[in-house]
Amino acid sequence: FIYLATRMSEHSGLLSDVHTEANKNKTKVKLEDVAGIEENLKLEIIEIIDFIKNPEKYKKLNAKMPKGILMEGEPGVGKTMLAKAIANEAEVDFFYRSAADLENPYLGMSAKTVKELFKKARESKNAIIFIDEIDSIGNRSEKNTVSGSGLINALLTEMDGFNENENIVVIAATNHIEKLDKAILREGRFDRKISIPLPNVNGRKEILKVHLKDKKLSSDVDLDILAKLTTEYSGAALAGIVNEASIQAVREGSEEITQEHLMKARDKKIMGVPFK
Ligand code: ADP
Repeated sequence: FIYLATRMSEHSGLLSDVHTEANKNKTKVKLEDVAGIEENLKLEIIEIIDFIKNPEKYKKLNAKMPKGILMEGEPGVGKTMLAKAIANEAEVDFFYRSAADLENPYLGMSAKTVKELFKKARESKNAIIFIDEIDSIGNRSEKNTVSGSGLINALLTEMDGFNENENIVVIAATNHIEKLDKAILREGRFDRKISIPLPNVNGRKEILKVHLKDKKLSSDVDLDILAKLTTEYSGAALAGIVNEASIQAVREGSEEITQEHLMKARDKKIMGVPFK
């Protein structure tokens, strides 16, 4: 009982206004910080920023802009970063929630949490609501839970209820589009889908450059080689390599990051040795 009570209070803490408020921030991530995005995708994102920033322009032509955008991509490819950058560039508030946190097995208050989240966004009038790991509630095949479908209904009801003068767009991220509940995919909800692939060799080089921007590099550092040797690495994994290489340099009392530091960090990752 004590365990349950503790968990319940933890969870009700999660639902409090303070927590929701803490997730609301005008973020500082710029589009240019999200490196290695291919040109086509970039153009699509610039258009999304434009319709969130200038809704009037689209309304004048009676163009219906999507209420929801589904972002698909493996973990660490930069979905959250990109959503923050969109909010920042469009100058709207950013509200973050992970769907994995939303589902509350103790109190069944998940629908209420969604309501609160949308209420806050509505108060702000111009906002992006980012729901991470949407598949964790939209997965009927594995989890036909009452709270899961209640949550989906709550989410879709809120989205269906957006009115003309609310400039709110929901961005939902997933790595498993195939597992999503059909109701989420129905027309009129998440009408725009964008896929964010793992970066290609040029993308990896750009991402490494962004993360090495403020570091002192030895003249032997060759990012072309490192980018070639990091096939299938996500942006987050590349950021991890840079961080590990920096730590290694400090450990050795070196003032610069060398190619060897970077390569060792990469090897550690490949061999599954956790970064310390
Ligand atoms: P996702 O939401 O897809 O799991 P995140 O946006 O949380 O990924 O990325 C985690 C971290 O990895 C970011 O904070 C950033 O440091 C790094 N990262 C990921 N993708 C990129 C990218 N394209 N450019 C620069 N950094 C990236």
